[in-house]
Amino acid sequence: IYILAIESSCDDTSAAVLHNNKKLSNVVATQHIHEEYGGVVPELASRAHQQNIVPVVHQALAKANIDKKQLSAIAFTRGPGLMGSLLVGTSFAKSLALGLDIPLIEVNHMQAHILAHFIDEENNPKPQFPFLALTISGGHTQIVLVKGYFDLEILGETLDDAVGEAFDKSAKILGLPYPGGPLVDKYAQLGNPKAFPFPKPKVKDLNFSFSGLKTSILYFIQKQVKENPNFVEENLNDICASIQYTIIDILMSKLKKAAKQTGIKQIAIGGGVSANSGIRQALKDAENKYGWTTYVPKFEYCTDNAAMIGIVGYLKYLEGNFSDQSITAKARYVI
Ligand code: ATP
Ligand code: FE
Repeated sequence: IYILAIESSCDDTSAAVLHNNKKLSNVVATQHIHEEYGGVVPELASRAHQQNIVPVVHQALAKANIDKKQLSAIAFTRGPGLMGSLLVGTSFAKSLALGLDIPLIEVNHMQAHILAHFIDEENNPKPQFPFLALTISGGHTQIVLVKGYFDLEILGETLDDAVGEAFDKSAKILGLPYPGGPLVDKYAQLGNPKAFPFPKPKVKDLNFSFSGLKTSILYFIQKQVKENPNFVEENLNDICASIQYTIIDILMSKLKKAAKQTGIKQIAIGGGVSANSGIRQALKDAENKYGWTTYVPKFEYCTDNAAMIGIVGYLKYLEGNFSDQSITAKARYVI
C-alpha cells in the first residue's frame, strides 16, 4: 500500500509518502513569515499553503521515488486547525484523489500526533494497548487513554492555554522570537531549574491550566526589571530553566496521577512539545522511578508533519475506512 499524506492544519505545509507503515519521504515546508508577527497569522498561513502545496507534494513523491500512479490512497488532515489552512490541504487531497480515482482518507490531527508512534522505525518499539498518551502541542494538552488505534478516550485536558502556548507566551515575555518553545528549551539546558520558583496551579482531576503560570511569569519579570533593567539578559538561562521545570512538573504530576488511576504503565508522548529535552529526560527518569515503559517519538514526528497523517491513513486503509468526496474541513474536531 502506498499512501500520500497531506498536512496543512497550521503553519507547516507537509507531504509524505508511506509504503505500508514505513515512511519513504516526509517533506515539511515551515512558514517563516509568521516570525515577524509573533504568532501565526491565519490569512498568511493559508496563502503560504497554497504556494507550497504542489512543490511539497512533488518533492515528497520524488524523494520516495514513486510515481503518483502507484498511489493507493490520499490521506489528509481534516482538523482540528485553522479553517483557511485546512481548506487548502482538504481541497487539494480531494482533487488529487478524484483525478487519480483512488480512495480519500480523512485524518484527525491529534489522533495522528498519537499514532505517529506506529510508523515503523528501527530501534523504536511501538506502544502496547492500552497505553496513556500525553499530547502536548501548540493548541492542545491532553491525557488520552488509547485502547486501540481508533479507540481513544480523553481523560483530561487543558482548561485554558495549551502547553505549547505556555512556552511560546513565556518566551514572548522574555523578548524571544516566535515560536519561542525551542529557544526556552535551548537556554534552559544551561540554567538552574530551581533558580526562580513559580507557583503550580491547582486543577481538578486530570485537567491542566497554564494561563496562571503565564501571568505569574509576567508579573515576576515586570517586578524584577523595575529593579534591574538587565534582569532578563543577565538571567535568561535560569529563567528559562525555571519556567521549563515548572511546566514539566505540572505535566508529570498529572501523568503520574493518570497512571495511578488507570494502573497503566505504558506511557507515550506526542505533539510539538514532545521535542522538548526536559520532558524527554523526565520521561526517561520515570522508567526507573515508577517502572513505566515510555515512548518518545523521533524529533521528525513531534512537530507537525505529514508522515503521522500517513500512518493513520494506512491504518484506516486496512479497515476500508474511506471518506466521501463531499467531506469538509473541520476546525474543531475532537478525537
Ligand atoms: P496542534 O497540534 O494542537 O493543532 P500545532 O500543530 O500548532 O498545534 P505542533 O506543531 O504540534 O502544534 O507543536 C508546536 C508547538 O511545540 C509550539 O508551541 C512550539 O513552541 C512547541 N515546541 C516545539 N519544540 C519545542 C521544544 N523543544 N520545547 C518546547 N516547546 C517546543
Ligand atoms: Fe500539531
